[in-house]
Amino acid sequence: MNAREEVRAWIAAHWDPDLPLGEWRRLLLDSGWAAPSWPEEWFGRGLPPSTDAAVAEELAVAGAVGPPLGAGMGLAAPTLLAHASDGLKRELLPPTVTGETTWCQLFSEPGSGSDLAGLTTRADADGDEWVVNGQKVWTTSAHHADYGMLLARTDWDVPKHHGITYFVLPMKQPGVDARPLRQMNGYASFNEVFLTDARVPAANVVGTPGDGWRVALTTLAHERGFATMRRRRFDPAGGWALREASAEADEYFATYSWYPQRAGRPDLAADVAAATARRDDPVARQLIAGLVARQRAHDWTARRAQAARSADRSPGPEGSLGKLAASDVARDAAATHSLLAGVAGTLTGDDGLLGGVVAEILTSVPAQSIAGGTDEIQRNIIGERVLGLPKEPAVDRDVPFREVLRNPGRSPT
Ligand SMILES: Cc1cc2nc3c(=O)[nH]c(=O)nc-3n(C[C@H](O)[C@H](O)[C@H](O)COP(=O)(O)OP(=O)(O)OC[C@H]3O[C@@H](n4cnc5c(N)ncnc54)[C@H](O)[C@@H]3O)c2cc1C
Repeated sequence: MNAREEVRAWIAAHWDPDLPLGEWRRLLLDSGWAAPSWPEEWFGRGLPPSTDAAVAEELAVAGAVGPPLGAGMGLAAPTLLAHASDGLKRELLPPTVTGETTWCQLFSEPGSGSDLAGLTTRADADGDEWVVNGQKVWTTSAHHADYGMLLARTDWDVPKHHGITYFVLPMKQPGVDARPLRQMNGYASFNEVFLTDARVPAANVVGTPGDGWRVALTTLAHERGFATMRRRRFDPAGGWALREASAEADEYFATYSWYPQRAGRPDLAADVAAATARRDDPVARQLIAGLVARQRAHDWTARRAQAARSADRSPGPEGSLGKLAASDVARDAAATHSLLAGVAGTLTGDDGLLGGVVAEILTSVPAQSIAGGTDEIQRNIIGERVLGLPKEPAVDRDVPFREVLRNPGRSPT
């Protein structure tokens, strides 16, 4: 029996929509089918990564619920598997799989996004705890996450990449203040997070103190492949587990409901042309055909990146190529919608073009080429790793971080 047949038989024997969602996911976890590519000793089955997608398909065919979507399964779990102590893995992986705990990524700061290793949030040892002070920004879902994947500087006397530590920060404590930021598309899905004497147990260091950059690279490598999230619909009248999964998906996608729009929605170009009576206009037709052709070509690039991951090759330059391609398509789509719609495309609200979706696209697309590493940074990666061009010049890479010139207010003490 191959893995697909085996999981099909397992689902047929065990799936019960009347179970509480947590109980069903616990069964899935204990069986090793929640994440079959994880090692056998850590809730998986040691199978190739492609098995994860096959199992997700089988669960969907059976109408059964899988593990939750989001930064927990997508970013935190693979990072913990690669670097965390056995104690942390035992404590944190099960509730992440069952969806009882949710995560956010506390990496970017007001002065450190692309130059992430220049971060200045600090953590100081205090007995068997660390005390964290600083500010993060752009933190998606920080306002309801249980844990944050936190990067903080713990040593100021070594070069910037060597003094960073990776922590699991409990978010629900007095020293953590997450304030939602309103975006130009009207949503508020990320936050600025102020950390004032926030406490982290010493046992929550992932890897070892000072080795956080290496750990962060694992998270970032998974982030480049984490962009596509497909929503599955669960029948809220179909049983307890389905009702809970449906409510969980509603809450989750409230944060991400504009993400399809940030990808430009090339699929809507023909509808925009119809709504603006330009379907028979040869210029409009040419624009749409060009856009759809580029989108199909870029889709194949994305599939090559997916195939690389399924073939057990760690995500590398294919991820950067795919991400850059997605930015190009998004910008192209926004330009096409604008040319087709003219000023009508800027009207927001239900009475705007296509119910306001076009306006939402135009104000969401800029995020595509920033989130998860900007286009320029992807080009640097492609230049250095694919084309073998010289490394970008840097003056701050080999000196103690304390001596690196920074803006006032970002000093170590
Ligand atoms: C929707 C969204 C969600 C996000 N969610 C999270 C999250 O959950 N957690 C988190 O930690 N972060 C998150 N981010 C932050 C994101 O990772 C950063 O915005 C991104 O890395 C860019 O950093 P920055 O905004 O500081 O821009 P900067 O780094 O200040 O860049 C400004 C400009 O300078 C260019 N630039 C910078 N350095 C170079 C260089 N070396 N060569 C050429 N050009 C350069 C950039 O390309 C950009 O055009 C999110 C961002 C978005 C848009």
